[in-house]
Parts: sequence; structure tokens; C-alpha cells
Amino acid sequence: MKFGGTSVADGECIQRVADILESHRAEGVELAVVVSACSGITDQLVSVAREVVNSRDNAAIESFIHAMRTRHMKTLEQVAPDYIPEVTAVFDDRLCQLRNILNAVFTLKELTPRSQDYIMTFGERFSAPLLSAALRQRGVPSVALDGVEAGIITTSNHGDARALPASENHIKSRVVPMLSETVPVVMGFMGATEEGFITTLGRSGSDYSAAVIGSGIDADEIWIWTDVDGVMTSDPRIIRDARVLSDVSYLEAMELSYFGAKVLHPRSVEPAMQKDILVRVKNTFNPGHPGTSILRKEHREKRVVKAISFIEKVALINITGAQMIGRPGVAKAIFSALAEREVNVMMISQGSSEANISLIIDEAHLEEAMDGLSPLAREGVVREVTYDRDVVAAAVVGAGMAGTPGTGGRIFTALGKAGINAMMISQGSSEVNVSFVVKGGDGKRALQVLHDEFRLSEDCDD
Ligand code: ADP
Ligand code: ASP
Ligand code: MG
Repeated sequence: MKFGGTSVADGECIQRVADILESHRAEGVELAVVVSACSGITDQLVSVAREVVNSRDNAAIESFIHAMRTRHMKTLEQVAPDYIPEVTAVFDDRLCQLRNILNAVFTLKELTPRSQDYIMTFGERFSAPLLSAALRQRGVPSVALDGVEAGIITTSNHGDARALPASENHIKSRVVPMLSETVPVVMGFMGATEEGFITTLGRSGSDYSAAVIGSGIDADEIWIWTDVDGVMTSDPRIIRDARVLSDVSYLEAMELSYFGAKVLHPRSVEPAMQKDILVRVKNTFNPGHPGTSILRKEHREKRVVKAISFIEKVALINITGAQMIGRPGVAKAIFSALAEREVNVMMISQGSSEANISLIIDEAHLEEAMDGLSPLAREGVVREVTYDRDVVAAAVVGAGMAGTPGTGGRIFTALGKAGINAMMISQGSSEVNVSFVVKGGDGKRALQVLHDEFRLSEDCDD
């Protein structure tokens, strides 16, 4: 069971989580827990590190350390009064480590990806001991483990590391033997390279930690507890009438999260899918709701489109040039230039008549991408490379789209009627998704138009 940041925001929330865990444990379920930082803490860690590296004095460090201590001590007093001395010692030790690394960043005026990752893990270094103590306060045996102690070994790409296959055996030998005796509470979001450097798994990476741990222990089920009732037909913060889906397939969940459905980290489905482990998404604040089941074969709804997701921080790159026609090396040159700079391409579409390739990438990688592609234009491999930052990529997702003709027509007719121009269109070969790009200002409206067109707010299961 994984609990996200809002689920462990404060003392009251942690009590609610402890209630849930205690009741499942009382039913005889063996549990491993993964926890995120208390809400807002990871963002604060990122911003203090950035502030400190640029500032003339280090006053921000002491005030931040003080705020961290105050917030977590307040929660500790609420949830585990009998464990105050023990957990305070753990906190003070970690605050000392955090102060040291922030001072090092300040002194060197250098925030490397490695030190940034180490700093970002400090939220989970506080939330896990808190939840673990809250369980012990209720008489449930528990131990807090960091991601490395739990066995997560990762690649070395800081800020977006992946678990290596070797993690599986480590997790099996470290976590499994504990389960009959105690409830391990593992710090999500973090791991370490084989050399021992601390890494993070990408923002919102605790979902991925949970999937890796769940797969490593051969869990019967992986439950992601969050602040909404389940995976919904669209982001409820934007589409007011979004509805909870009772089940979605692994592929649908992957497509939705890849295209921005924040409820799951994009890599969190794969480890479960490899072992056919059921993933459930449930609401910590409404535990009676059945939530969403994510499984191999979803129950086929009558409709073909199930959900729509979107990502805002992307850029559209257009590569034009007649030279491209009939020259197989051109695509290779483009994708090698991007791969060398570790730019991940999220969507591709190629039009043969205009010898045009369009790509969607994370906006944060635009500079590297242009550095890699501009020389191709100078060398005459392509004619021109242009970009547009102000775009939104959206994905219309549903397993029923495979083999159902006309869905694309419906999508683009509905957008056309609303006066929304699709700047780029792409369909994955899995046929679970049709994705498209629109101008930034049209994004939310496009989402609502399609949500209405496919009547996603209406339940048609029965
Ligand atoms: P946690 O802290 O529990 O990991 P997140 O904030 O990362 O929670 O993810 C949950 C949020 O994801 C929800 O509050 C909701 O606003 C957002 N969200 C975006 N798209 C969807 C979707 N399709 N279904 C459910 N929630 C979504
Ligand atoms: N605390 C991390 C973040 O804010 C990981 C997570 O919440 O899943 O990104
Ligand atoms: Mg999350």
C-alpha cells in the first residue's frame, strides 16, 4: 500500500492512514507500505536548494531547517506521543545531514543533479519514521526503511532514475522476511545506484517505488492510496463532471499517466503488468469507495473512449525540408541527435507530402533538443527546425478503440466544430490511444469538448 503526500499531510491524515493499515493488518493481511513526503515538502526542498545556490548569505538554511523541524514535530506529537524521544533523535540526525548538504551547496555555489537528488529525498526521510511510529503507537509492529534498505537499486540518471532488475532479489531478501512480523514503511521516491549514490525516481515517483516493491515481494495486490476515488475519466480539477472508472487495463492506465494523469506515475504500471499484479487506486479520505482496479483485461465498456488526459509542459518541434524524402538516414540523424542529449520524444508524426516530421518533447528539454537539431539545418540535412512552446498534448484513451472505425473522425469533427485546430495528430500502434496537440489556450476547452462528445460523465456500465 502506497500513500501519497496529501494522505500524510498532517497528524490527522497520518492517523487516518494508520487506521486503514491497522484494520487490514487485523484481518490478517501482510502489508508493506510505501510513503511519500508530507504534502508540499518536496517542492520546498527543491526551492530552498535553488535559493541557497544563488544567495549571498545562508539565512534561508536555518529558517528552512526550523520550519521542517516544527512541522514534523507537531505531527509526531499528535500521532506517536510515546515515541517522541526516539523519533526526535532520528529527525535531529537527519536535519543535521540536511543542513550540511545545504551548506555545502551554498559554499560551493553548485547544485549538481546528484546533490539535488539527495536533498529531494529528505521529505520521505521524515514521513516514513512518522507513519511507522504512528503504527507502533497503536501496537502494530513497524519499522521504517529507506528505499535503499528496502533494496531499490537504480540507474544513475539523477532526477529520473529507473529501478534495475537486480532490485528484485534485494527486495525479496530484505523485505519479504519482515512481513510476517512487522509492517515495513518504505520511503518512496528514492533508491541508489550500484555505487551507492542516492537517486530519485522522478516527481511523483513513490507510485513507481510501490510498484517495484510490490512486484519484488510478489504482492497479491498493489494499492495506491491518494486523494481522489480512483482513476477518473479526466483530471477532476479541470473537468468538473469527471467520473471514477471502476476498472481500466494496464495499457489504458499507462497511456493516461504517460499523458499527464497525475494520479499515477507513468512507470508505475509496468512492474505490476509484468507479473499480472492487480493495482487498485483508492481514496484515503473515502476508504469505503471501491476505487479503480487496474488489470490486464478490463471489463469492456459499451463505449470505445474511456478517458482523456493531457500534458501542458511540452513543446512541439517541426522539422521541414524536402531533402528528407527518400533519405532513410535523415530520421536516424534526427533521433540520434536527440538521444545523444537524452531528450525523450513523447509523440512523433510524419507527413510525407511536405517532408515534415513533428515531435513532442518535454518543454524542459527544448534547449538540448534545439542544440542537437540546429546543426542538421546548418548542414543541409533538413531545411528548417522550428518550435512552439505554447502547446498542450492530449490523449484520448480506450481499449475499445482498437478495431472500432470512426473514433478519430469523431474526435476531430468535435474539435473542428468547436473551432479548435489540431496542430499534430498521432495514433500509437497499440490503438489504445489517439493523441493530438493543440494551442495552449485551447487545451482545457478541447478536453471538455471531447469529454462531452463521448459522454464520459455518464455511467454506461449497466
Ligand atoms: P498523491 O499525492 O496521492 O500521489 P497526486 O496529486 O500525485 O496524489 O495525484 C492525485 C491527483 O491526480 C488528483 O488529486 C487529481 O487532481 C489528479 N488527476 C489528474 N488526472 C486524473 C485522473 N484521470 N484521474 C484521477 N485523478 C487525476
Ligand atoms: N515526494 C515526491 C514528490 O513530491 C514523490 C511522490 O510524492 O511520489 O514528487
Ligand atoms: Mg502522486
